[in-house]
Amino acid sequence: MITRFAPSPTGLLHLGHAFAAHLAQQLARENEGLFLLRFEDIDHTRVRPEYYAAIEEDLRWLGIQWDAPPWRQLDRLDSYQNALETLKSLDVIYPCFCTRREIESELSHLTNAPHGPEGPLYPGTCRNLKNIPTDKEPAWRLDAQKAAALAGPLTFHDLKHGETTVDPLLLGDVILSRKDIGTSYHLAVVCDDAAQHITHITRGEDLLPSTHVHRLLQKLLDLPEPKFHHHQLVHDDQGERLAKRHDALSLRALRESGMSPADVYSQMPPLNL
Ligand code: GLU
Repeated sequence: MITRFAPSPTGLLHLGHAFAAHLAQQLARENEGLFLLRFEDIDHTRVRPEYYAAIEEDLRWLGIQWDAPPWRQLDRLDSYQNALETLKSLDVIYPCFCTRREIESELSHLTNAPHGPEGPLYPGTCRNLKNIPTDKEPAWRLDAQKAAALAGPLTFHDLKHGETTVDPLLLGDVILSRKDIGTSYHLAVVCDDAAQHITHITRGEDLLPSTHVHRLLQKLLDLPEPKFHHHQLVHDDQGERLAKRHDALSLRALRESGMSPADVYSQMPPLNL
């Protein structure tokens, strides 16, 4: 068994991250497996260099130990590019030149705009472009219909929820390569989990819709099928899920207020592994 914790160095860790890291580590320890750390740092518009060390320091303070040097996604851009080329050769992605504003305007004119669990889906403006501009760098989007037809029926196994049927159209034609960073969360995470031989992907249940896209990509890229464990999210006293904006609840702030690691663990929900 190999599990991982994959934070983005875009802010300080909070109690929700501590819970996610603890859960991934415990699952590995209980099964004599390995626990890895990976920095998901592709979004250079949001990454700050000081957060790599801050994250490692906060994890160490909690007694969390990873079993190999941490990976950084920025070191792996070539792999993502190769995967993108494979998807191009399968003809399941297409270049998209839309700006966010153009997409919003297109959606506002549609009476029946397609919706997913996270809001309106991309309306498909660039899906069948006749004249592809050569002077502009495109984003690349999954052609979810074509990809679904090529992949055939798929399921994924969640340790808590059992077997789930993949809905390949759930998030629509998601972006697989942003024009400014040359990849995306979906593409990078699928490549890395395979390259690091992750057998059990543990992550918050907010990412459950993404898993449908990831299974599809794993199949198209001929990558192994991992198992999943989508865990509950940690909420604040008002019932709102923790986010990086909750600076007052960062592990750093909790530590500075005098809390011990044991106090932090006592604030976490049960692992229910
Ligand atoms: N980097 C993601 C996050 O910080 C986690 C991605 C994943 O576990 O798949 O929420």
